[in-house]
Amino acid sequence: NENSAPIVVIGTGLAGYNLVKELRKLAPQQDILMITADDGRNYSKPMLSTGFGKNKTADELAMASAAAMAEQLNIVIRTNTRVTHIDAAAHKVFVGEEPIDYSKLVLAWGAEVIRPRVEGDAGDRIYSINDLEDYARFRAAADGKKRVLIMGAGLIGCEYANDMANGGFEIDVVAPCEQLLPSLLPPEAANAVQHGLEGLGVRFHLGPLVSRIVHDGDELSATLSNGETLKTDVVVSAIGLRPRLDLAIKAGLQVNHGIVVNRQLQTSEPDIYALGDCAEVEGRVLLYVLPLMASARALAKTLSGEATEVSYGVMPVTVKTPVVPVVVSPPALSVSGMWQTECDGADVQAEFRNENGELLGYALTGARVMNKVALNKELPAILP
Ligand code: FAD
Repeated sequence: NENSAPIVVIGTGLAGYNLVKELRKLAPQQDILMITADDGRNYSKPMLSTGFGKNKTADELAMASAAAMAEQLNIVIRTNTRVTHIDAAAHKVFVGEEPIDYSKLVLAWGAEVIRPRVEGDAGDRIYSINDLEDYARFRAAADGKKRVLIMGAGLIGCEYANDMANGGFEIDVVAPCEQLLPSLLPPEAANAVQHGLEGLGVRFHLGPLVSRIVHDGDELSATLSNGETLKTDVVVSAIGLRPRLDLAIKAGLQVNHGIVVNRQLQTSEPDIYALGDCAEVEGRVLLYVLPLMASARALAKTLSGEATEVSYGVMPVTVKTPVVPVVVSPPALSVSGMWQTECDGADVQAEFRNENGELLGYALTGARVMNKVALNKELPAILP
């Protein structure tokens, strides 16, 4: 019977756990079942790209086991359990053949890594790191090795470059773009970060793709699309993430880049909600922690009976490249304006203003990051 069925939350990442923590405060008696494909350990995903510099194992990054979380939150958590199908009309999710009833369903199942298409026989040595188990596997693979090739120069590629350089590795970064952090930074700021990372010994190969990787004795040999060859020991792919959509599409939910939700985080099915990396809130897919925290607070209220819309304030992104700190609030794609940039070595302040002089975004590096507080006051909210 769907009314006495629990609220079911799929996913125990930051979105799932933060939602349930908030919901538990408002609804102490509510039956809640969480289902997760992984082992359900609670961890802070941003720590995955600072773990080499701090020399932390996966176990050390885990803050609590699923059992401890279940007890603390007074809920049931099913771990290592993958939902395979959703029947919205019947209010059931399926784990293989097994049906599970829900009263309300929350999709917090995150984003999946985009796998690179690379020829050669060394696909088994290309790692992506998007959860604690990936991180553990990669650490084991990198143990005792010297060289790492990172594919991708976005936020995650750059963070790993800095972190693994701090951890003592020799790093090559290959990315098919003219500058690093292309979707976040104007060129002057990207150059400042690149020079800082090069100072740590990181070598950038910007422009080509990695087209082929083969085993070559104990090492790996990577061929780039410009013909260059690099020797390395292990490869990290950080070419991007995309919201998990498959099950949502099969369930008939409206999707676009992410699972489409309104400001109450409600999908096109009234009793199914989504938040975190899988969700597209009013056209925005924001793969960051701050938006999912705001969503968790709003959705907890809605699920406990007080319909509440999410709002996003100003949400600058910190890129964890400590050699050249970066804080950026990228302008929305839809707005027009111009970057005005001041550079002084590693210290760059770039402000994106429209023709009326209004600030719509900024990028700060080095010592300039401290100006974020003043600039944040000038910025418009992302979702007022
Ligand atoms: P996830 O953490 O991916 O959780 C998804 C959950 O769903 C998992 O439990 C998974 O097992 C489960 N699941 C998936 N499919 C199924 C299924 N079919 N059945 C059952 N369970 C399923 N953001 C910042 O704001 N600041 C940072 O500094 C920052 N650094 C980052 C560094 C790295 C290396 C990475 C990868 C991301 C970083 N991010 C950062 C982004 C941020 O970590 C994510 O936005 C956030 O953790 C997403 O949480 P989530 O709960 O939506 O997804």
